[in-house]
Amino acid sequence: MIEISNLRSGQMLEPSTHVERMPVINPATAEIIATVPVGTAEDVDLAVVAAREAFPIWSGLPASERAACLHRLADLVDANVDELARLETDDNGKPLALARDLEIPRAASNLRFFAGAILHTKSEAYDLGGMGLSYSLHRPRGVAACISPWNLPLYLFTWKVAPALATGNTVVAKPSEVTPLSAFRFSQLATDAGFPPGVFNVVHGRGDVVGQRLVEHPDVPTITFTGGTSTGARIAATAGPMFKRTSLELGGKNAVVICEDADLEAAMPTIVRSCFQNQGEICTCGSRILVHRDRMKAFVSRFLDSVAGLKVGDPLDAETDMGPLVSADHRDKVEAAIARGKAEGGTLACGGGRPTHLPDRVKDGFFLEPTVFMGLDQDSRTNQEEIFGPVVTIQGYDSHGEAVDRANATPYGLACSIWTRDLERAHRMAARIESGMTWVNAWMLRDLRTPFGGMKQSGVGREGGEEALRFFTETRSITIAHPG
Ligand code: NDP
Repeated sequence: MIEISNLRSGQMLEPSTHVERMPVINPATAEIIATVPVGTAEDVDLAVVAAREAFPIWSGLPASERAACLHRLADLVDANVDELARLETDDNGKPLALARDLEIPRAASNLRFFAGAILHTKSEAYDLGGMGLSYSLHRPRGVAACISPWNLPLYLFTWKVAPALATGNTVVAKPSEVTPLSAFRFSQLATDAGFPPGVFNVVHGRGDVVGQRLVEHPDVPTITFTGGTSTGARIAATAGPMFKRTSLELGGKNAVVICEDADLEAAMPTIVRSCFQNQGEICTCGSRILVHRDRMKAFVSRFLDSVAGLKVGDPLDAETDMGPLVSADHRDKVEAAIARGKAEGGTLACGGGRPTHLPDRVKDGFFLEPTVFMGLDQDSRTNQEEIFGPVVTIQGYDSHGEAVDRANATPYGLACSIWTRDLERAHRMAARIESGMTWVNAWMLRDLRTPFGGMKQSGVGREGGEEALRFFTETRSITIAHPG
């Protein structure tokens, strides 16, 4: 049984008997595997004091020294990849191979990417004719709150923490209470990486207490949040009147547009992955497949064949494609969405229930079959609301204009993929689809330099590359008159 503790002022705080704790449950086995402290507003306040005190020291270091700390931490993540991957799988339910081969290495890449980026930043200068010179400084803003969700726990945690630290801010981070294990182990590794005390702090606990206090704390000017749209709205309502800077990466209802000339054979493995990787619990997962009616029959038969081949089971098994959903509560929500889809008149083309014949070790886990609906209206709740699970719908369209209109007909605008061999058409559609990120003949093909984020109710602001470096710094203009 792991006893999770907070990181403050460079110290892992000893679990205290006075502190209330909550269980952490392995969703594959339904067993309690750890306990996490129920952080309080006071815990946040103490962490913010530590981070504020560390800010002049950390922001005053040469960028190369900050980068060196981040590189040491990345090396420690690499050295502990197997342990971190296992924690991630036990906590979240994702297949071990996904955590070990993709997500934990990506956490190390996030740290290295921003460690490198900060050494290559530039500043602007403007020659004012004969009158003078203006130039810009980009300075860290102070204490940054980094609030992350449960679906890609360490991957998204480091996506926020790395640029905040690289740019010279100090951090108070709050991982999701549902999946705190990898952030806990990461915070232990951070104590070995040589950060000055107080630079990086982690407070575990509930979102509505720890997260809320971080958002409303007067000494936290910068908030980066990834999570649900309704939580994002709450954060914006608190942070807006305080003039805080917020980056909100929120939900999605992403379209997968299959054109009549799509190379279905080559594309199918990626299309299926785009819908069901990580049990569909990725914000960029496709959840509405729009198929040109000329290819509907061919697409549906190939797609359902491929989905039938997905193995749902023990996430520790190397053959497993889909593990359990993250929690019993979340599975309840997804099952309610499936029931609603049926009530709205949808036809189940496959799935819709809990898998049978699970291995003994995981027989009590929170599994669901990959589920495909057909015959639902564009306006149905199933086609409008984020489900965040292994549930997709298929709709037909007759013209590319109709495909674009359907892709745009939700309140979200996070991600989209277009499958076609006609690049001219791809450019035209991509420009018209209201989506922060569009992939053509690909999904989740990521370069850390490219901006990441959504439009409409999928968020405000962009992360990644230059955008992240700008977000975490304040730009100041300085103008010097030439003598005379
Ligand atoms: P939530 O919004 O429930 O939680 C996200 C984080 O915010 C958690 O750490 C949570 O803490 C915390 N939190 C909850 N309430 C508050 C509050 N009032 N103030 C501050 N923080 C709070 O999202 P989920 O964890 O359920 O994540 C799933 C959602 O995340 C989906 O909607 C998904 O689309 C979205 N997402 C978006 C991505 C993007 O880049 N656009 C990427 C990944 C996910 P706790 O869990 O401890 O309650």
